Amino acid sequence: MRKTKIICTIGPATSSYEMLAKMHETGMDIIRLNMSHATHKWAERMIGHIVELNKHSAFPVGILLDTQGPEIRTGVRESDLDLKAGDEITITVRDGMSVEESSIRINYDELIDTVNVGDKITVDNGLINLQVLEKHHNLMRCMVLDGGKLGSKKHVNLPGIRVNLPAITQNDREDILFGLEHELDYIALSFVREADDVLQLRSFIEEHKPEKANTIKIIAKIEDQQGVNNLEQIVQVCDGIMVARGDLGVEIDLAELPNTQRRIVQMCAEYGKRVIVATHLLESMIENPIPTRAEVTDVANAVYEEADAIMLSGETTVGKHPLRCIRYLDSIARATERKPGLDFTRKLRKNSDKEHLAATAVELADSLEARGIVVVTRHGIMANFVTNCHPHRSPIFAFTNIGVTRRIMTLNRYVYPFKIEFSKEPEETLARAFRELKDKAGFVPGDKVVVISDLLIDQDTVGIQIRYLP
Ligand code: PGA
Ligand code: MN
Repeated sequence: MRKTKIICTIGPATSSYEMLAKMHETGMDIIRLNMSHATHKWAERMIGHIVELNKHSAFPVGILLDTQGPEIRTGVRESDLDLKAGDEITITVRDGMSVEESSIRINYDELIDTVNVGDKITVDNGLINLQVLEKHHNLMRCMVLDGGKLGSKKHVNLPGIRVNLPAITQNDREDILFGLEHELDYIALSFVREADDVLQLRSFIEEHKPEKANTIKIIAKIEDQQGVNNLEQIVQVCDGIMVARGDLGVEIDLAELPNTQRRIVQMCAEYGKRVIVATHLLESMIENPIPTRAEVTDVANAVYEEADAIMLSGETTVGKHPLRCIRYLDSIARATERKPGLDFTRKLRKNSDKEHLAATAVELADSLEARGIVVVTRHGIMANFVTNCHPHRSPIFAFTNIGVTRRIMTLNRYVYPFKIEFSKEPEETLARAFRELKDKAGFVPGDKVVVISDLLIDQDTVGIQIRYLP
C-alpha cells in the first residue's frame, strides 16, 4: 500500500466525471481547485463530481480549494507574445486603457510605485525576466533580459520586494465564501507571509461559517522569503504547509530551494503538521509521455523526506498525460517507500499523553509487524497523532462516524479512512471496523492489528490492544 498521497490540480484536461473517476482509480487522493483560474460555476461542478464519485468508491477523494492570494499575474492575451532578449516592452497597470499589441498588462495597480528603475520583474515562474528602465504614471518601459512566449495570466514575481496586498484579498474572500457553502476539506492560503495571515483566515471562517471552523483545515503555502523567515510561527498555527516551489523558486535563491524544502518538511514532522510538496514534480510530462530522470529523482526525494503528499499542477490541468503522471507518482512513491525514509519524526514534539500513546501504538505495530494500525477517531485528532509518528511497516486504518473527518484524512500519510456507525458497545464498533477491513482492504481472519482508541473503554481513556481479526 502506498504511503504518500497524491493531489491533482483539476483543469480543462480533467474536468469530466469519467476522467476524475479514472484518476481516482489510478491513485489520486485529493483534487485541488486552483481559484487563480477556476470560476465558481466550474468549481461547483467539480465538487459535485467528487461528491458523486465518493458515493461509489471504497476510499474518498478529498477536496482542496487553493486561493489566488496576493499574487500578481499578467492579463489575458488573445495570442502569445514573443519576447526576445534585448527587446523593450511596455507594462501597463490599471484597467481600461487601450494598450498596444506588444505591451503586457499586469493586475497590480501599485506595481509602478512598488518597483524602482533597475529592479527585476520575473514572469511565468522565472522563464521570462524583465528589468525596469523607466517609470510613468500607469506604464513603464522594461528591457527583456530572458525572453520567451508569454501567454495569458502568467505569474509575476518581484523577488525580494514586499507586495502591498492584503493576505486575503477581496477576490479570495469571495472564493472562500463560495467554498464554505460547498463540500470542502482544505483551504490552501497562498503567499502566507506570517502566522497572522493564517489566523485571519481562521477568524474569517469563524465569522462566516462557525459550524465549519473546526472541520475545515488550513494549509499555509510558503511561497516567498518572508514565509520562510516566519516558518516556525506559521507551522504552529496552521494544519499543514504546502512547499509552493513554483513561486518559492523565484522569490528565494533557486539554489537554496532543496534546503528550504527539507527544512519545511522537517519542521512539519517535528510539529506534527501535514506537508505537501508541490509544483514541477513531473513538469516535462505536460508534453512528454515519460518524465525526465531528474523529475523521477525529485519525486523520490519528496517521498524519502516523508512528505504527506505530492502534488501535480499543470501536469493534470492542461497536460497531455494526466493518468500517466499519476501512474508515475504512484510507482515512484511505492518503489521509494520500500527503503527507510529520513525519519524526521524522530524529533516529533509530543505534548499530551495521547500523543505518547499514539507513538507507543505505532512502535508496537511496527515491531509486531502488524498488518495494520486501527484507529477509531471522531474528528481525526487521534488519527493525526498516529500519522505524525510515521509507521514504517503498518498502514493506518482510521474509522470515523463523521463523513467530513473521513475526507480530511485523505491527506494523512499512510492513512486509509473509513466511515462506520459507532455503537454504544465498543466491541460492536470494533467488529464493524474489522468487517470493513475484510470487505475493503483484503484482511483475512487471524490478521494481527494494533487498535488505538479512546472509545474502547470510556471517552477519556485511550486504550491500546493487540487484536486478531475474527
Ligand atoms: P500556485 O502555487 O500554483 O497557486 O502558484 C503553487 C506554487 O507556487 O508552487
Ligand atoms: Mn504559487
